[in-house]
Amino acid sequence: MGIAIALAGNPNSGKTTLFNALTGARQHVGNYPGVTVEKKEGKYSDDIGEFNIVDLPGTYSLTAYSMEEVVARDYLVNEKPAMVVDIIDASNLERNLYLCVQFLEMGMPVTIALNMMDVANKRGIEIDHKKLSKLLNIPVVPTIARKGHGKKKLLQAIAAKSESNIEPLKISYGQDIDTALDEMEDMIKSSGFLTNRYNARWTAIKYLENDGQVKELGSKGDKNLDLQLETIVEKVTKHLAATLDTHPEGMIADQRYGFINSILKQGIIKRYHDENRLQISDKIDKVVTNRFLGPIIMIAIIMGLYKFTFSYSEMPVSWFESFFGWLSGAVDSALPEGLLKSLIVSGIIDGAGGVLGFVPLIMFMFFGVSLLEDSGYLARMSFMLDRIFRMFGLHGSSVMAFIISGGIAGGCAVPGVMATRTLKSPKERLATLLTVPFMNCGAKLPVFALLIAAFFSENEAQMMLVITLIAWFGALIVARILRSTVIKGEATPFVMELPPYRMPTLKGILIHTWERTWQYIKKAGTVILGVSIIIWAMMTFPGLDENQSKLFEDQRAVITSQAGYAILSDIETLESDQLSAQASAVKDNLSRVDLDEAKAGLKNSIAGRIGTSLEGLTKFAGFDWRTNIALVGGFAAKEVVVSTLGTAYSLGEVDPEEKGSLSERLKSAEGWGPLTAFSLIIFTIFYAPCFVTVICIAREAGSWKWAGFSVVFNTVLAFGLSVLCYQVGSVIM
Ligand code: GDP
Ligand code: MG
Repeated sequence: MGIAIALAGNPNSGKTTLFNALTGARQHVGNYPGVTVEKKEGKYSDDIGEFNIVDLPGTYSLTAYSMEEVVARDYLVNEKPAMVVDIIDASNLERNLYLCVQFLEMGMPVTIALNMMDVANKRGIEIDHKKLSKLLNIPVVPTIARKGHGKKKLLQAIAAKSESNIEPLKISYGQDIDTALDEMEDMIKSSGFLTNRYNARWTAIKYLENDGQVKELGSKGDKNLDLQLETIVEKVTKHLAATLDTHPEGMIADQRYGFINSILKQGIIKRYHDENRLQISDKIDKVVTNRFLGPIIMIAIIMGLYKFTFSYSEMPVSWFESFFGWLSGAVDSALPEGLLKSLIVSGIIDGAGGVLGFVPLIMFMFFGVSLLEDSGYLARMSFMLDRIFRMFGLHGSSVMAFIISGGIAGGCAVPGVMATRTLKSPKERLATLLTVPFMNCGAKLPVFALLIAAFFSENEAQMMLVITLIAWFGALIVARILRSTVIKGEATPFVMELPPYRMPTLKGILIHTWERTWQYIKKAGTVILGVSIIIWAMMTFPGLDENQSKLFEDQRAVITSQAGYAILSDIETLESDQLSAQASAVKDNLSRVDLDEAKAGLKNSIAGRIGTSLEGLTKFAGFDWRTNIALVGGFAAKEVVVSTLGTAYSLGEVDPEEKGSLSERLKSAEGWGPLTAFSLIIFTIFYAPCFVTVICIAREAGSWKWAGFSVVFNTVLAFGLSVLCYQVGSVIM
């Protein structure tokens, strides 16, 4: 029988030379059926085994643009050779790997014959073929076909490679195309279009590449499917034209070369004399990803991004705040006292509205991130941080997810968790999505701001830096622990797409910014709205029973009757300013009773009871029942910690919604001090991700098991760390 192997590669890479070296006289020449393309077949046999070898026509790509390409491709899918030997001209690695990547995307078993090594060496090019083999996860054997060097090793490598189930290589073509591909893949799979020949994703890529053969088959087949696919292609084409000023074929080629670029950048080519041939992108990369300059530039760019975000969004955020303030005031005076008003004001406007208030900040940040992403810089950042992340069992592609989640300050774990989709290894992806919630997301910031203002006002910036560092170290160490226990597994080589830099267009960035912002608004209007209503209900019901309410009614009655008596009896003698002082004292007394009642009601509510019942445990970390309510509420959204503390601690005349005054109150409240505050900060960094993030983790990790894990593990970890801080701190202080 023999092992069937096909020699493929670019024209003039040495296929025929290698074919002759292997088969000698045992060959015969014919034609491929129906076309005038020459087909050479031959045999080789020795102690390694028996091989049936075919010399395929030379091609640069596998899209059906030329007859050679159609012939080569049809041969591979129809005859299914056991191995495709890709003959690569070592002196022109980048160009030659382009075809190789396409074989891998097709899901073919590939071995590389790294040919023309003599030419490459003469030109001063030295190639680390072992590393290349590791990064591509296929055998790579150096050869000099003209002298017959390496042919035995090549055949040994082929004979040793017996994997039959090969996962097709998945390259990320950027968000727009990736989304379209996912959609098209599902359609193609369910209708079974060409699935006996190609994997569905590959067929979808061919549609986007405008492949004549596949499109013709499509239009002759299921008309409905063809129309659906064409509609998606048209949509992506329009979107790419509008945002990045490119078309799908261009984008696909860019990303494939980007993938190759990122392989070659990892020290594959050791010496490269021909520096003049560097492209503009390579020249920029020489500076931007330089070992010393690179990190400095990266930090400067990140600082720039956050400075830009925070300074320019301050004003619009305050407009949003005053709008919601006005709205809640208007509703407050328009509606009668009662549950409905409480629901609308506290549940809906303060809950979902509080989250919508962040829209301008989010928008500015996404603008900056879109700029970095569209220009191609973001990919370089991951490339640089890969080495550090690798030590902790994560991956270069994890970096972006961390930054999006609030790695610097003020991100969100929801898009962060979704950003882990770019990770190809499921284990590294899982480790990443379980640790991104430790970052300082935008919702935790007001919590930190509140506590810092109250207890660390002398060292605000330093404290913020400490918090950021704790979050990062914590996340990386937890990742390391997870990767050596529950998600143990090999580190995958870091190969991502490093496409050439491109000049982003303002229109494109604006469209991308808006798309991201809209996602955020949708979340606030749906999930957050629902959750804040639930939380409101938990803090409202069951309320006080009749006897308890009566107690407060009685107190009020006493105050008003006493006051009424006093005022009536002295009305003749009192000056008008004394009168109003009297009246305001009465009002104060009445509102004190109201607040006492509210506090009693809160303590009696479902949330209050939970808070009180947890106190026995949480006192070891320094948290009382009111803090517990806030933390339970924070599970809905971390912003809720601040607003809940506000309600729970509204013990005076001061407006409970005002942050400054809340921090004043906390400062003087019993049981509070820097140690309690620090313990609470630690807890807030590490405990269960918010509700929406948990849902997102479940969806992205593919099971509720991991979502549950993140809730339990993070909370236990957070509690352990807080207790440690509080207890050690109590001894020292
Ligand atoms: P094909 O188009 O892929 O079939 O390439 P050929 O086998 O026809 O080779 C193209 C040219 O490269 C011929 O002149 C070969 O002699 C030469 N060639 C092939 N392999 C090597 C090699 O390893 N080293 C050198 N120096 N030349 C080679
Ligand atoms: Mg030839």
